[in-house]
Amino acid sequence: MITDTATGGAAAAKEPSKNEGIKEASHYLRGTILEGLADASTGAVSEEDSQLLKFHGTYLQDDRDLRAERRKQKLDKAYIFMVRVRVPGGVCTPKQWLEIDRIADRYANGTIKLSTRQAFQLHGILKGNLKNSIKEVNEALLCTLAACGDVNRNVMCNPNPHLSAIHAETLDYALKLTQHLSPRTPAYHEIWLDKERVAGGDTGGGDDDSSPDKVEPIYGKHYLPRKFKIGIAIPPSNDVDIFSQDLGFIAIAENGKLVGFNVAVGGGMGMSHGNKATYPRLGDVMGFCTPEQMVDVAEKVVTVQRDYGDRSERKHARLKYTIQDRGLLWFRSEVEKRLGYKLATARTYTFDGNGDRYGWVEGGDGRHHLTLFIEGGRLRGKQKNGLREIANIHDGDFRLTANQNIIIAAVSAEKRPQIEKLLKEYDLDQTYSSVTGLRRGGMACVALPTCGLALAESERNLPLLVTELEKVIREAGLQEQEIHIRSSGCPNGCARPYLGEIGVVGKVPGKYNLYLGAAHDGSRLNKLYKDVLTNEQIVAELTPILRRYAVERNPDEYFGDFVIRAGYVKAVTSGAVDFHD
Ligand code: SF4
Repeated sequence: MITDTATGGAAAAKEPSKNEGIKEASHYLRGTILEGLADASTGAVSEEDSQLLKFHGTYLQDDRDLRAERRKQKLDKAYIFMVRVRVPGGVCTPKQWLEIDRIADRYANGTIKLSTRQAFQLHGILKGNLKNSIKEVNEALLCTLAACGDVNRNVMCNPNPHLSAIHAETLDYALKLTQHLSPRTPAYHEIWLDKERVAGGDTGGGDDDSSPDKVEPIYGKHYLPRKFKIGIAIPPSNDVDIFSQDLGFIAIAENGKLVGFNVAVGGGMGMSHGNKATYPRLGDVMGFCTPEQMVDVAEKVVTVQRDYGDRSERKHARLKYTIQDRGLLWFRSEVEKRLGYKLATARTYTFDGNGDRYGWVEGGDGRHHLTLFIEGGRLRGKQKNGLREIANIHDGDFRLTANQNIIIAAVSAEKRPQIEKLLKEYDLDQTYSSVTGLRRGGMACVALPTCGLALAESERNLPLLVTELEKVIREAGLQEQEIHIRSSGCPNGCARPYLGEIGVVGKVPGKYNLYLGAAHDGSRLNKLYKDVLTNEQIVAELTPILRRYAVERNPDEYFGDFVIRAGYVKAVTSGAVDFHD
């Protein structure tokens, strides 16, 4: 139901945050990035440029495993960069796969991280290799622009071509949104692709009086108050966790034809420990639009957030807070005012899960699709080599899923036996045939050693925790049961941990807050069950619950629903109101 709590109006004038000043002074994202890259005296860049580099798709990090030792030796931090490659809808060609694989080996740490937003992440790149890495990503017809930063990021879309006839059409809308909401500044091309800086107003180049309307017609020179995330779901799959997105489109099909999208706004995961003014929130469905209206609706939602989002407090700057503070009715009417028409009433839809389905399926066109489980989304060693060999012969495409897995998609009947042989040779077949439902339902953000915000391990810890939990899972006969367990190294929640039936969120090194009770289809947040637990304590807490679940669950009852029925946690109805109760 839509409620209203505010009347709207211009955002109250408060002191803008430091980042707003950095954006304003950057001449449309240029800053002194070029000079910083050329400075061989340090492996880092200035604080201002490190903020701007995010818009270009790269983060300055350091190897935190080496911090203490280097400090002892009075050495600078071991600076490295992470490069995030946008892959709209997660679809890339075998040729692009091979290029990412090569760039990972040549410039990064030889691994590929599949992100929770269907992007590639390459870690451990030295400053001297950053330009070539990004340039070569672009030569492969992929892009890093706006993979991070206060702009619209990689547009997610259900990647399963076999799921519905409307898939290709929907994917096309993901591409249209990506294109329409990409920053227009030529800074990216100048810095990474050696394009000459063009004089005149449309470059934005250093001319503070050049018109923002010309340079960045949607964003202006301050871009957005904070990051902005868009996803498109195709029911019955909610694999993209549509309610975690700032803006979500739920595809509605009638008689096998795409008729439009329900529009959900105001989702987001991040919060801060101990700060109840911050919270995860699920998006609200505010109406329905036709396919032709969709890009315009997205633009208007973005511009309302651009104009009314909080630019003084970055912890309060996401769209979810704008909507929570001003009310959904106000927000919808502001969007409709800019559109010049009203959104239609939302249509009915049903989701049946937010996980992936593993193994082979055959599509209507006779092509075959295989979803592989990739633990923590990290490809290295034998698995990475196997996928390279598959890319060498594959005649379809690859699809990165929102759950950090891979679909080897559109395999022809002739190629399938060759691919199956390679899967066996490189132990990739094991990834979907013999792991427990708990492990398959896992997601983990990177956290240590590269993420500067990590309070605890995540990607390196989750497999260890799952191994311990599997003892009770097997003993209780739950090995086939899909249970979604999600781990993040800090409360920012990159692995969408508050939508895990079991959520594990880093609090301090070696200790985690344990959340329980999210819905299996991504429609309900979980709730804090116990805080500051070691792995051992998490296992001790979960063991009796899992045992009870094995014997007392109703037919088809998911773990997230059971823990609420059994009284372990209360159901969260609105993240903003009762997540922290
Ligand atoms: Fe880093 Fe926190 Fe995101 Fe994990 S959730 S990648 S620790 S910011």
